[in-house]
Amino acid sequence: MKTVDLRSDTVTSPSQAMRREMANAPVGDDVYGEDPTVNRLESMAAELLGKEAALFVPTGTMGNLLALLSHCGRGDEYIAGQEAHIYRWEGGGGAIFGGIQPQPIDFEEDGTLDLEKVRRVVKPADYHHPVTRLLCLENTQGGKVLPLDYLAKAAELAQGLGLSLHLDGARVFNAAVYLGVPVATIAAHFDSASVCLSKGLGAPAGTVLCASRELIGRARRWRKVAGGGMRQAGILAAAGIHALEKNLQRLTEDHENAELLAAGLGHIEELMVSQARTNILFVTPPAGSADRLRQTLATEGILLGGGDQIRLVTHLDVTGADVERTVVAFKRFFAARGN
Ligand SMILES: *Cc1c(COP(=O)(O)O)cnc(C)c1O
Repeated sequence: MKTVDLRSDTVTSPSQAMRREMANAPVGDDVYGEDPTVNRLESMAAELLGKEAALFVPTGTMGNLLALLSHCGRGDEYIAGQEAHIYRWEGGGGAIFGGIQPQPIDFEEDGTLDLEKVRRVVKPADYHHPVTRLLCLENTQGGKVLPLDYLAKAAELAQGLGLSLHLDGARVFNAAVYLGVPVATIAAHFDSASVCLSKGLGAPAGTVLCASRELIGRARRWRKVAGGGMRQAGILAAAGIHALEKNLQRLTEDHENAELLAAGLGHIEELMVSQARTNILFVTPPAGSADRLRQTLATEGILLGGGDQIRLVTHLDVTGADVERTVVAFKRFFAARGN
């Protein structure tokens, strides 16, 4: 029986076609800048995002870390959402490696940061204060797509205050496909963008950090310092190229499947179901039943995220039939006596 893994879009397995591209990739030593496949992926990514240059790194966490280290110096400060991945879920790397202090503020309901709140936490130029250098946004944020006019206003504010603007765009292609715009239209508002190839795009590993040539030059140095200088990395970059060539437009299928899942689960009285946003939705079962629900569905080969509010994520290894099977399993669980 096939496992339907809805815990995250990081769980995708490289397809046979992707594995063939990886096996056949021409490679060289990327620390010497001599891996043709990495170089090709970096130019492709830079062009797609509309930036001068790009850098291939092992993970999204490293992409964000190198952005922090390249934009900020010791004692500088960045502003990010309270639940932002770059602040909350990356071990405090900016503080550990760069002496960079975060200034978190709450996300709004729609995944944006209120620009008035941002303005209020930017420190005046006074030697009592850290120097506020950078504003970080996330798109998508928990699946939510930030509106384009909001991005324009955020960029205007950042420019007016002398801040750089970084995009944690782990899932920015989901946002672009959802809005029906080239990803460069989103990235244009940012000085740098970090984009995961290993989530819905289906590569086994890898992220590209895209920015000006100058910033990427600094990030390349920090990548080596952080231990992210890989050698024949073309084997991995080939998977990224395949992902960018083959798996972008199909993200709409993931969004459709998330909507189908939300609609199907919405009929279950006991369940609170959020709206599907791009490829992510949340369901809340009655208090005390989340663990039992998770365990029961796991025995049927359906894996759900942790916590009382359960995150469900669709991706290229989840089909329409898998969505139907999941809805049936949920219904069976709640129809059973005692659940
Ligand atoms: C997954 C993710 C990252 C980083 O991912 P890695 O697991 O380090 O590759 C960064 N930001 C967001 C919003 C993410 O979802």
